[in-house]
Amino acid sequence: MKFTLMSRQDSQSQTIVGKLLTKLLQAGHRQDDRQPDVLIFIGGDGTFLRSLQAYLPLVDSLVFVGIHTGTLGFFCEYYHNQLDQIVNDLPTMKKRAERYPLIELNLIGKKSQRVYAVNEVRIENPFHTFVTDVYIDDHPLQTFRGTGLIVASTLGSSAYNKSLGGALVDVQIPSLQLTEMATIQNNAYRSLGSSLVLDANRLVTLKGDFTKAIFGYDHVLVDVKETVEEVQVRLSKKTFRLFHQKQHPYFETLRKTFVRNG
Ligand code: NAP
Ligand code: MN
Repeated sequence: MKFTLMSRQDSQSQTIVGKLLTKLLQAGHRQDDRQPDVLIFIGGDGTFLRSLQAYLPLVDSLVFVGIHTGTLGFFCEYYHNQLDQIVNDLPTMKKRAERYPLIELNLIGKKSQRVYAVNEVRIENPFHTFVTDVYIDDHPLQTFRGTGLIVASTLGSSAYNKSLGGALVDVQIPSLQLTEMATIQNNAYRSLGSSLVLDANRLVTLKGDFTKAIFGYDHVLVDVKETVEEVQVRLSKKTFRLFHQKQHPYFETLRKTFVRNG
């Protein structure tokens, strides 16, 4: 198998990279940073988000697999003491990896821009109240006033979305979740005030004044080139593949991350 490694910069992760590289080469696997079959990331969930953006043009065929060296990761499947197992599992990973859709954020203006996210996209105005009309497909839903809105994927429901009071969504349910950030609710202005879980085929459209808005996706900020007139968010046809060791690790990860450590 052709593999590449991406790692966090801390010394524990770097040590693992050295050990793993030796084991992989000894087992006859080949390091290929340009056209790998498998990308092994070492670090945490943030390391996965960075790896995915770095290899975005290859995501359709690439398989991602993670070794965590910090807290338990939602995207990381192996502990640092399971290096031999990862080497053994490598040949079958392509067949066994799960496929997940990315979120697509389209900034529409004279020249449109498109980016892809794993966890969520966020549209916010940190300077003054952000006002936007929100449409689901062609239906007007509300005029939102507040700090901003995020649209999270199922996998991203446990990240920023959760901190904002959004729901955790079972990974088996392909969906989008629209969640408000510090919404203004009074007798003059009102919006849903709760997060809204949407079918995977819905289109979220925002129309408003985006002059001072910022557009974030996962750990990145969009470098906006042209005036944005409209924002569209949907689940993309573009997918990525993530390897899980066990069949249903999601609830175990939920328990270990949020309920009980151990
Ligand atoms: P970060 O500060 O390292 O990320 C914040 C935390 O979110 C980290 O502990 C990270 O885990 C964890 N995380 C990432 N994806 C997750 C997921 N799908 N489910 C559960 N936890 C997850 O920042 P970063 O490395 O740049 O990552 C960007 C992500 O951070 C964004 O996509 C956003 O979801 C999240 N974020 C959260 C808040 C908040 O909760 N208030 C604010 C900003 C951003 P690791 O330590 O394993 O990397
Ligand atoms: Mn991180």
